[in-house]
Amino acid sequence: MSKAILTIDDAPTKLTPKIIDYLSAKGITPVINFIGCEVDKHFDEAVYVAKNGIVIGNHSFTHPNFSELELSECRDEIEKTEHAIDGVYKAAGAEIAHRVFRFPYGDKGGAREAQIQKMLRDEFGFERLDDSEVLFPYWKENHLDTDINMHWSFDFLEYELSWMNGFTWDTIVSRIHDSKPEMGSYLLDNSSVNIVLMHDMEETEAFLSGYYEKLIDYALSQGVEFIKPRFVKPKPE
Ligand SMILES: [Zn+2]
Repeated sequence: MSKAILTIDDAPTKLTPKIIDYLSAKGITPVINFIGCEVDKHFDEAVYVAKNGIVIGNHSFTHPNFSELELSECRDEIEKTEHAIDGVYKAAGAEIAHRVFRFPYGDKGGAREAQIQKMLRDEFGFERLDDSEVLFPYWKENHLDTDINMHWSFDFLEYELSWMNGFTWDTIVSRIHDSKPEMGSYLLDNSSVNIVLMHDMEETEAFLSGYYEKLIDYALSQGVEFIKPRFVKPKPE
C-alpha cells in the first residue's frame, strides 16, 4: 500500500469548509496552505480550518514568484501572512501548533535561495513537514530533505482541468499510474511516502464539481493510504 500526506494549496476559498468536511468524513488530515491576501475575503472559511485543528501553512501573501522579489519583499510576503494566520487562530480561539511554509510555484527564490532558507528558519522559526519517510532518491539529491519549506512529491495538477489545454481527467489518471514519471514521483510507489499536492480552487470546482472528492476517492480506490502529517524542528545550521 502506498502512503501519502495530503497538502492543499491556495486556500482559503468559499470551497474550503466543504473540502474539510469531506476529508474529515474520510478520516484524512491535510495541511492547508493559505494565501494571506485571501484570508480577509474568506475569513469564516479560514477560521473553520483552525477550528478543525488543521495545520495552516503560510503560502505567501500575494502568491508571487520569490525569485522576482527583493529579500525585503520576501520577508513582507511571509510576515503579512503570518499575521493573517495569527488572526485566524485568535478568532477560532485556538493555539497555533505548528508553523510551516510553502513557496508559490515551488520557486525557492533563485539567487537568494540560501538567504531565504536562513530567514525561514532563523527569523520565522518555521518547522518542517516531517519528510523522513520520503525516500525518492531525487529528494535527497536536491536537498529537499533539509529545506525548511514544504515541498511536494506528487501534484495532481487538477487546476489545469479548467484551462481547456487538452489536460483532462484521463491525464490525471494516467499520471497517477505513471510508474516512471519524468518529473516528480510515482503516486502508487510502495517504497516511499508521497507528499501530495491538491489545490483549493473555485475555478476547478466550477469546471468539475466535487473535484477534490473525485481525486481523493480515486487515490483511495488505488490503495493510497493518507497518513497524518507530523512536524519536526529543522536542524540548526
Ligand atoms: Zn499556490
